[in-house]
Amino acid sequence: MDFELTEEQKLLRSTVRSFAEEEIRPTMKEFDKKEEFPVEITKKMFDLGLFGIFVPEEYGGSGLDYLSYVIVVEELARVNASCAATVAAGNSLGIGPIYYFGTKEQKQKYLPPLCSDKKLWGFGLTEPDAGSDASNTKTTGLIKDERIILNGAKIFITNASSPLTLGSTVQFKSGVKDNGKKELSCALVLNNTDGFTQKTMKNKMVWRSSNTAELYFQDCTVPQENLLGKKGDGLKIMLSTLDRGRLSIAAMGLGGAQGAYEAALRYSKQRVQFGVPISTMPVNAFKLAEMATRIEAARSLLYRTCWELDNNKPFAEHAAMSKLYCADVMRYCANEGVQLHGGYGLMEEFDAAMFFRDQKLLDIGEGTSEIQRMVISRHIGCYDLAGGA
Ligand SMILES: Cc1cc2nc3c(=O)[nH]c(=O)nc-3n(C[C@H](O)[C@H](O)[C@H](O)COP(=O)(O)OP(=O)(O)OC[C@H]3O[C@@H](n4cnc5c(N)ncnc54)[C@H](O)[C@@H]3O)c2cc1C
Repeated sequence: MDFELTEEQKLLRSTVRSFAEEEIRPTMKEFDKKEEFPVEITKKMFDLGLFGIFVPEEYGGSGLDYLSYVIVVEELARVNASCAATVAAGNSLGIGPIYYFGTKEQKQKYLPPLCSDKKLWGFGLTEPDAGSDASNTKTTGLIKDERIILNGAKIFITNASSPLTLGSTVQFKSGVKDNGKKELSCALVLNNTDGFTQKTMKNKMVWRSSNTAELYFQDCTVPQENLLGKKGDGLKIMLSTLDRGRLSIAAMGLGGAQGAYEAALRYSKQRVQFGVPISTMPVNAFKLAEMATRIEAARSLLYRTCWELDNNKPFAEHAAMSKLYCADVMRYCANEGVQLHGGYGLMEEFDAAMFFRDQKLLDIGEGTSEIQRMVISRHIGCYDLAGGA
């Protein structure tokens, strides 16, 4: 077994770490407070090559492996979850479906803008009445006369209404299958299409400077060439995208846990009570030791799963485990991190408060922790489960 990162991966980590420290950390609290999407920082992340990391250079990407991508998200999340979310959603959910399921023409048309021309793309799966039950899509798409006519709504779609957004991939009901179940398909829809409106969602507790949108379709008509994959392949495309996407959400958990732990360790060594730094009191030292141990275990599980993906081995079971476990580890570190800060941990000027809030998304986004346990239960043979976001 070779656990050593390549020289290229080590360089990538140190480059992204420096960028996060120098460009993101000084301004992130202001963006978070104002709930403002950081356009210029996002453009700089494009300049650094953080979009299209696993996409070949012919489409404007960097042609790196999945582990490199996960390291990037981990390093961003160590400092700020919102910027990490923009990159994770941009790569896994925006670029991923087009790269893995698009025709050559679709890849040539959409990937260069999304990888290098500073454009973002949304992943429109969740609806007001269809969250974990990802196959219960109500949005309809009538495929007729070489066109698709969409009607319906999506909710909570990351990167779908920012100033840099070009469009979204949208799952819709295209018919009914022989077994009576919904036939689901996917379409690529540009934001400036008639009948398509995007509304930015405000007042989020988490990821406050990432972009989240509601999408509305009213007789929104796109050419049939915008169908992604074959008619009826919609759920397969969405679920397989989520299998990969879970690794980047896991990376957000790992990076967030690391950031929360480092902040807690730093503070505990400085904070003196009863005449000694609180880090020297066994109850607190043991918490920090527990954090460090869980983070190492999470990193091993996540990196091993990336290795499986990069080596074309089955990885979906371990991706669900990685997402579940990294979210758990970040919850532990963020919670104990606040505890070690005492009252100061509840004040927004301390990073501990931000990690505490941002952690909660990881139990919910891209499949809740309950859904991860259901996916894992199915893989280990407890029962058969169809779908689940
Ligand atoms: C900031 C943010 C960004 C997001 N970005 C995107 C995006 O880019 N694209 C997108 O499509 N979606 C996105 N989502 C949506 C996210 O994926 C959903 O919120 C998530 O899948 C859960 O769906 P729900 O909110 O409808 O909850 P529900 O599905 O209603 O779940 C409510 C509760 O019931 C539990 N539950 C549901 N079904 C079961 C079951 N069978 N067994 C046991 N428990 C169950 C859940 O675990 C949860 O605890 C985003 C959400 C947020 C908050």
